[in-house]
Amino acid sequence: MKPKSRWIFSVSLLVVLTVVGAVHLAMSPNILAVRFVPTTHKVVALTIDDGPQPETTPRLLRTLKEKQAKATFFILGANAARHPDLVRQAANDGHEIGSHAYTHNYLNKMRPAEFEAEMEQTNQLIRQLTARDPKVFRPPGGAWNDAIAIAAQLRGQITILWSVDAGDWRRPSVSGSVNRILKNVKPGSIVLLHDGQPSLPTPEVVGIVIDTLREQGYQFVTVSELLQYYEVQ
Ligand SMILES: [Zn+2]
Repeated sequence: MKPKSRWIFSVSLLVVLTVVGAVHLAMSPNILAVRFVPTTHKVVALTIDDGPQPETTPRLLRTLKEKQAKATFFILGANAARHPDLVRQAANDGHEIGSHAYTHNYLNKMRPAEFEAEMEQTNQLIRQLTARDPKVFRPPGGAWNDAIAIAAQLRGQITILWSVDAGDWRRPSVSGSVNRILKNVKPGSIVLLHDGQPSLPTPEVVGIVIDTLREQGYQFVTVSELLQYYEVQ
């Protein structure tokens, strides 16, 4: 092959591989919506939905500070507008702030213009309160479709679901919720918790879970950090 043909062949091959790679990534359900991160590292992301709430969120922030663990708060825009200081505090404590849309109405029941407005409103609030662009998005109720995940992607956000459900919003006993988590957690788990209602057992649950899993060698990271541990298996 002449040098020029070889050069054209190499460039063409690179273009083809890039396009194939991009299509593959776009088609992969793991990329459109992440439920857990395949990894051999003992890392876990605690994710907390529906807040901020003036009674549960401060208790949770105290526990996380005491245990020196980082979490991800998927905030509701409507609650953040009512309690902006709690969002600022969570961000200042080093936690990640993600979007859980604005009203908690299910986005898959809305027209695109409506769910995009919910996303935009919440993103604007997060930017105002934390001076950062939110990188992660969790649809209310985990109700999503491709159009919703792509709308999040276009806004620079990855749709995050979960692999371990603490069931804490049903107000189980602390031990019931702790056992549920410990039974199901593994490296790369994304744990679903809540702080949108008063008097949830969540802060106590989180404290025990952190202590127990740390003894087993686990580290607690934000969702964006967890994504860095992605290993092809
Ligand atoms: Zn929720």
